[in-house]
Formats: sequence, C-alpha cells, structure tokens
Amino acid sequence: MRIGHGYDVHRLIEGRRLVLCGEEIPYEMGLLGHSDADVAVHALMDALLGAMALGDIGKLFPDSDEKFKNADSMLLLSEVIKLMRKNGFELGNADITIIAERPKLSPYIPKMRENLSAAFSCENSRISVKATTEEGLGLAGEGIAAHAVVLLEQRIQKLRL
Ligand code: MG
Repeated sequence: MRIGHGYDVHRLIEGRRLVLCGEEIPYEMGLLGHSDADVAVHALMDALLGAMALGDIGKLFPDSDEKFKNADSMLLLSEVIKLMRKNGFELGNADITIIAERPKLSPYIPKMRENLSAAFSCENSRISVKATTEEGLGLAGEGIAAHAVVLLEQRIQKLRL
C-alpha cells in the first residue's frame, strides 16, 4: 500500500467560474489559475502522484504550457488515473478537505463525491469530501485551499510457476 498527501490553494477573484471536484458552484467569484483552478482536484492529483513518488502536477502539466490554459482539471485527473493504473495501482480511498470561508459548500458535496467516484470508476464509499472554514483566522477568506490524502493499493502480480 502507498499513502500520498496533496495540498493546494488558489485566490478567489471576480469574473471566474468556481469549480470544485468537477462541480461548478454558483458564486460571485471564482478561483484564479492557469487551468480551471479546481483546487480540490489539484490537491487530489498531487496526493496520487505523491503516493507513487512521481513528482507533482506542476511537473506533469506545466502552467507554461498553453495546452493547459483553462484546462478542465477532471480531464487532467483522468490522465493521472491512467498513470496510476499503468503503474499497477488502484485507489483504496481518498479523503479531501476543502477549506473555504465562503461560499457554503455542503449542498454540493454529494455531487462532488459522485464526480470523483465516476472518474475512478469506484464505489462512492471510497471517496470522502469534507468542507471546513478557518473561523476567519486563516487565508481562506482570500481564497480556497484543499488537502487530499489517498491510499493506493498495488495490484498483486500473479506468479507464473
Ligand atoms: Mg493548483
């Protein structure tokens, strides 16, 4: 088994869509970034890459590359999932914590979990998404942050005797 952790933060600005775990959330601001700035999926991808010791999303999808401008982070996630399978791993479980003072995210969490379990083609019970605030004490007023922890399980190779 392999464990991985990912962390990301993006600034909230006007005139951008707010997309978290592939779900567009109605809000007057969105996250600034080269891609769609889905901070939760970015943390998740870094956790997957971390578990495999394959670097990070900056290495895989450089923001200097025009190809990734406004990219759908769920499509980038599907590339990381392909890499995970190529390396012989399956997802054990993922636990994501989104840190945001606003907007209120709880109504969107079931759909976020659905989006991610569809991306992994796994049971919903393997994907946890939680949301919290920092009680106005942290940086989450200016932006949105996310942590992700994953457990990967290596497929057992059958020995040919
Ligand atoms: Mg990011």
